Amino acid sequence: MARLSDWLAERRRTGTLRTLRPVNRLADGRLRLANEPNSPALLDFSSNDYLALSTHPAVIEASRVALAQWGAGAGAARLMSGDLALHHQLEAAVAGLKGKEAALLFGSGFMANAGVIPALVGRGDVVFADRLDHASIYDGCRLSGAKLHRFRHNDIGHLEELLASHRGRGEALVVVESIYSMDGDRCPLADLVALKERYEFLLLVDEAHATGLFGANGGGVIEADGVGGAVDLAMGTFGKALGSYGAYLAGSREIIDYLVNRARSFIYSTALPPAVLGASLAAVELVRADVSLRDELWARVTRFKERLRQGGLAADLGPSQIVPVLVGESPLALALVEELREKGLFVTAVRPPTVPENTARLRFSVTRHLSDEDLAGAAVTLLDTFGRLAPQVLG
Ligand code: PLP
Repeated sequence: MARLSDWLAERRRTGTLRTLRPVNRLADGRLRLANEPNSPALLDFSSNDYLALSTHPAVIEASRVALAQWGAGAGAARLMSGDLALHHQLEAAVAGLKGKEAALLFGSGFMANAGVIPALVGRGDVVFADRLDHASIYDGCRLSGAKLHRFRHNDIGHLEELLASHRGRGEALVVVESIYSMDGDRCPLADLVALKERYEFLLLVDEAHATGLFGANGGGVIEADGVGGAVDLAMGTFGKALGSYGAYLAGSREIIDYLVNRARSFIYSTALPPAVLGASLAAVELVRADVSLRDELWARVTRFKERLRQGGLAADLGPSQIVPVLVGESPLALALVEELREKGLFVTAVRPPTVPENTARLRFSVTRHLSDEDLAGAAVTLLDTFGRLAPQVLG
């Protein structure tokens, strides 16, 4: 079809065409491009397996035991015959981790956001979403049919203006991420929660990149900031710091009972399989019991950023394990990615339409798979590469 080929050609021309590249994961945070078996192993700066739990022996063993005991698949949706005791155990564990009465599992984070938002709001209601919210949040908003207002990223003043002028008579829902997936910055949750004293709204916080990493128990930024009680719906995934797959929504018993009846991506989809549940349950237990996992990660993140700053990187490297370096144009971001790959680093370029025009960036995701030594070597390579190809990002 001409329309499709023109579209693809235009994407190629502007350096924004997405393509798949299979990889083989090796030990110690390295991977190799599967189609290039003789190529060197690359240090992986693009995974969200922040605590390296996907390869933790306790997680693998729990997954293996669940698989052997209950089989490869749940066989049906939860409301049919797919509802296993393991689903309930994991829901109780995750509700405990998030300090909420109850939780409900979803097939993925995308399915959670795309199912929960339309269950909560619809025509006649209104949703307020941060401009940098994840695509799954925006798809959930669009599916809901509620009127959507986007507020400037992390600008609670702008949100308040919108609430004051568009709150309306229906239900209002505010959706934010606690740690933003592409910029790694943190939502000012305390300021946001303070708005609840003046405006009535439901608050949904996506903790995909925070659960397991922040808070004394790994309960996320809502725990770290002490605002869990004011967050009506705490969403998160098992596919990132928890090293597995799937997602959850934690909240009051009433909200969960309602979602069981209204969230279509929950009702009309096969339940998560036993091996995934076993892995996630072990991961939640580990995160609560073993603080050293996140302490180790934060120590490495801090040293990596220090090295980059000392080397003259002027960019704001943010408060989290996601370290963004803004470079501007998409072709420059792609050239940097290629050059870094030649030098042994696997980094993702985040480009429009995922982020606004002219704000293409390299996103360095630091995980416990990467040793201090790896990170020190990578910092030297990065500074050298930026110095040659993008000196404007160095101060
Ligand atoms: N929400 C945010 C903020 C994310 O970054 C992601 C990641 O992909 C998702 C939701 C979707 O989660 P999942 O990958 O489990 O579908």
